[in-house]
Amino acid sequence: MTDCIFCKIVAGEIPSSKIYEDDQVLAFLDITQVTPGHTLVIPKSHVADIFDMDSEVASSVFARVPKIARQLKEKLGAKGLNIVNNNGEIAGQTVFHSHIHLLPRLEETDGLDIRFDTHEPDFEKLGKLAQELYLEA
Ligand code: AMP
Ligand code: ZN
Repeated sequence: MTDCIFCKIVAGEIPSSKIYEDDQVLAFLDITQVTPGHTLVIPKSHVADIFDMDSEVASSVFARVPKIARQLKEKLGAKGLNIVNNNGEIAGQTVFHSHIHLLPRLEETDGLDIRFDTHEPDFEKLGKLAQELYLEA
């Protein structure tokens, strides 16, 4: 896609700090570095988001994540790592070429705060929702 910033990175038209590359996948450092080593893993082909991704592209991108995560952990001495994938404006996506954020966690005071509010479980509601969402394999 001509006006896509990540397609331009794939094509080498704008610079990036690459840390992994193969035929289908590219990983490079996010310019904002939310935590040190913050990396984006992207498919080389233009896919807007998870809803647009077929299983072949998904297999290639997600399969590379553990290898790249281990490299970040080992080289940076990270104690952990968060994986974030925003889909759609409402979910915080700003670049509409699908990407997976790998956020190494080096220390508790790194300022990144990803938390889930907890609620009392309503098992009846959960059961109904699961029925509605159930997907045949
Ligand atoms: P998201 O908000 O999930 O769509 O994330 C988009 C990410 O792309 C942001 O964290 C930006 O810092 C990052 N980003 C935008 N332009 C570039 C670029 N040229 N090189 C590296 N990262 C970029
Ligand atoms: Zn693109």
